[in-house]
Amino acid sequence: MKLELSRVIQGGARLGVLQGIGRTGQLSLKVPGCLLYTHFGTVPHLTQDTLQTISILPSVTQVTLSNIAEHQEVLEEFKDGFKKFAGLHDTVLYCSLHDPATRSPTGYATNKTVSVWGSGGRIELTASKFMALLKTVKPDWYQSMADGETWPANTSRKRIRKSVDRTLAYLDECLLVHQKSQGLDGVELFGVVEGGDVMEERVRSARETAKRPVAGFCLDGLQTGSVDQALRTQLITSMTKELPEDKPRLLQGVGRPDEVLACVEAGVDLFEGFFPFQVTERGCALCFNYDVSPDPERAGRAPQTVLELNEEERSAGGDTQPKGDLNCEDQTQMTSFEMNLKDKRYGDDFKPLVEGCGCYCCRNHQRAYLHHLLVTNELLAGVLLMIHNITHYQNFFGAVREALAADKMDLLKRRVLGESRNSD
Ligand SMILES: [Zn+2]
Repeated sequence: MKLELSRVIQGGARLGVLQGIGRTGQLSLKVPGCLLYTHFGTVPHLTQDTLQTISILPSVTQVTLSNIAEHQEVLEEFKDGFKKFAGLHDTVLYCSLHDPATRSPTGYATNKTVSVWGSGGRIELTASKFMALLKTVKPDWYQSMADGETWPANTSRKRIRKSVDRTLAYLDECLLVHQKSQGLDGVELFGVVEGGDVMEERVRSARETAKRPVAGFCLDGLQTGSVDQALRTQLITSMTKELPEDKPRLLQGVGRPDEVLACVEAGVDLFEGFFPFQVTERGCALCFNYDVSPDPERAGRAPQTVLELNEEERSAGGDTQPKGDLNCEDQTQMTSFEMNLKDKRYGDDFKPLVEGCGCYCCRNHQRAYLHHLLVTNELLAGVLLMIHNITHYQNFFGAVREALAADKMDLLKRRVLGESRNSD
């Protein structure tokens, strides 16, 4: 794996490509970018065939040990690894510890174990059990074992220090096993940087993790709701100063477009792609504007701005949508980047979800049809929304890279936040 940076903007944002990834070294992934979010290897609602109709899929698929741990015996018996077990096409498999869309309870990490929560309840993992599991999963990348229980706001400094110490100790244990296992040849291990909201602990964790032979870094404990964006940016900036330039940085638990932009500017390369899933599950469709194209023809086909949508809502006399920054505590709440298709105002709206979107859903269906599918609880609603939401989100990351290449981050931020009319 090699990170080739084509542009580093002073003090933060990085544009580039992760080359030669996966066991065969044939795949690549553009950064800033996001991973493909799955449940047990499957993108929720979508079969592999349906998934492959999306033209711009990321080349890295994320699975979580919280899904997999309870199936260890079956995987051991199967022998050929999780990718084959789940029928995945040519993709890089990244195995993380927890599911970013659900929050694990705290109070279960010890000096020797961490716990993951599957459908059957809690599973306690020691470093040796953790590594045994990974040998059956056979991922291309994996996140090292970590104590990330520092996200609640009132976590003490002492507890935060302990999370850093434990995470480093787990990492050393994992590295020992990793280096001795032939089955893990060519597999890349990501070290986890902890430190809660304490700057010195963040710096210490980053510095110490960077001394180990890891392929990349997971920035943990900064998920939406745990710290505000201004503090998150400061913490990320202080960590990335300690990290080598040539290794990727993956931020866990952050997916909202405004937060993604701020974190890209602070030096984050990769995100977990769970946000479109959460939007789909609440019956919503992503519709925020990210067009920074100077081409007036293309601009005419641009998605509606949030401002336009809000105006539409006001004229329809509906509730105003909550602003994204007001509900950062709760990841299940609707944000200002999406439209709620269950609302009856869409019952006779014959426009596509987003004008000009090339996805299967927008090419073939209208808002009114989606509204009908949702109110009658048809499973197809989730399928069509997931296709659109993944497409919209991936295109957004494309726009981020385009904006970095063309020095248009400020314009993109205004577009995404829906302020385009006042500030152009
Ligand atoms: Zn679409």
